[in-house]
Amino acid sequence: MSATIISGTETAKAIREELKQEVTDLLVKHQVVPGLVTILVGEDPASQSYVAAKNKTAHALGIHSEQVTLAKDTSEADLLALVAKYNQDPKIHGILVQLPLPKHINETKVLYAIDPLKDVDGFHPVNVGKMVLGEQCYLPCTPHGILELLLRSGVQTSGAEVVILGRSNIVGKPMANLMLQKRPAGNATITLCHTRTKDMAEHCRRADIIIAAVGVPKLVTADMVKEGVVIIDVGVNRIGMSESGKAILAGDVDFDSVKEKASFITPVPGGVGPMTITMLMKNTVQAARQAAGLL
Ligand code: NAP
Repeated sequence: MSATIISGTETAKAIREELKQEVTDLLVKHQVVPGLVTILVGEDPASQSYVAAKNKTAHALGIHSEQVTLAKDTSEADLLALVAKYNQDPKIHGILVQLPLPKHINETKVLYAIDPLKDVDGFHPVNVGKMVLGEQCYLPCTPHGILELLLRSGVQTSGAEVVILGRSNIVGKPMANLMLQKRPAGNATITLCHTRTKDMAEHCRRADIIIAAVGVPKLVTADMVKEGVVIIDVGVNRIGMSESGKAILAGDVDFDSVKEKASFITPVPGGVGPMTITMLMKNTVQAARQAAGLL
């Protein structure tokens, strides 16, 4: 068997088309333009390229987008003041502070300062709490994107054994939470693995669905999975440089061998990555609807 490739690039494109239409409708019918601000502190090249991609996507969809780049020695107080300013700005419905922040700034303090109604990353404890309770809120973008990939690929999650590798606050934990809820792409039985898990391979071998988010290139190999498994590979690992100077990326799964046993698999790049930005745009449009009383 060779797996069906779940293309995040294609799925993201389809969702962006839907969003573009929604943004046009919001403008024509309600004179509402969704607005997003991205705030970057410092000059980390990876963060710069993520922020640039977010702004480019927002522009392409007709979302008003502002980009603020601050010097790496910006004080925590100045950053908090900027967040407070955008909390009050009616043109801005979504505030995204690009992580990681420089060490002298308390990341938690900054994320908690964002108005939960503008927290389109879904990291504020109010949104995390609502997510856990299954209430309407902004879902964190990467897990939200994975739910969409599963739904749109027709993967059956109800009753499935799902093994999630990695317990970070941005991927593993929310993913586990969302997939155990009584909702589409939910109702699964969840196992969450991490560095203290005794026998990760054994857990993987009985999984119907594996979601790998550990940041270790090709950690999941063919001998660790059963025939017909569905693989969602979140990992983005730079494993070298091409002759033209482009980073060579690998996921957390050994794609070439595992795809021969899997029924569905996401590639890296072109899998989960494009979905994350798209879900940020979806949350921003949702925030604009909410602010306009249209939800
Ligand atoms: P993270 O915060 O570093 O967390 C990694 C998790 O993996 C931790 O829970 C860690 O366990 C666990 N882990 C690490 N090595 C392990 C091993 N050998 N065996 C078992 N568990 C192990 O990472 P993250 O932010 O969740 O990101 C994970 C990966 O996804 C990275 O490659 C990142 O670049 C990628 N990512 C991609 C997207 C996207 O949009 N495509 C978005 C977010 C992240 P402990 O808790 O015990 O330390």
